Amino acid sequence: MPTIVTHAAVPLCLGIGLGPRRIPPVLLMTGIAFSMIPDLDVLSFKLGIAYANVFGHRGFTHSLLFAFALPTLALLFKKTFKVGYRRIWGFLTVSLLSHSVLDSLTTGGMGVGWLWPWSGERFFAPVQVIKVAPFQLAQYLKPNGIAVIQSELLWVWLPGVVIMLALIALRRANNDAISSPSV
Ligand SMILES: [Zn+2]
Repeated sequence: MPTIVTHAAVPLCLGIGLGPRRIPPVLLMTGIAFSMIPDLDVLSFKLGIAYANVFGHRGFTHSLLFAFALPTLALLFKKTFKVGYRRIWGFLTVSLLSHSVLDSLTTGGMGVGWLWPWSGERFFAPVQVIKVAPFQLAQYLKPNGIAVIQSELLWVWLPGVVIMLALIALRRANNDAISSPSV
């Protein structure tokens, strides 16, 4: 996995980029939570469940079914989010799905179980560029941990911030165009 904080980069950059009118704070916060939820499966290690098991790490919580089902359930709370169904579902699905996509881009671990429950196969993206993060926090102080942070900054945060700034610039340009129509 990339570090848990880095998983939040996708909803955070996208949400701030799109602005609070399109992505209200509650939806943004839920998106951030959704981007981290799949890694609750690390608890399986404590329960003695093997990594390769579908209920192990990167198993069913990283599947496409989970990524589509959980945002669908969230629609039950539509009123809380103060935007339409499509916006809620779209933002939460992108947030949740981004987790397994980022995991599939990492250089280690077992790949993600995208096809659960139809298959227990684990998948990686065609390229792996993000250095896999260690599980123990203390490891981050070692050279390898610092390399992980550098790799996440380069491959996740940098593109995320660029997209965020581009979206903000686009919004400003649109607002300007609306508030000052050409004569
Ligand atoms: Zn994960």
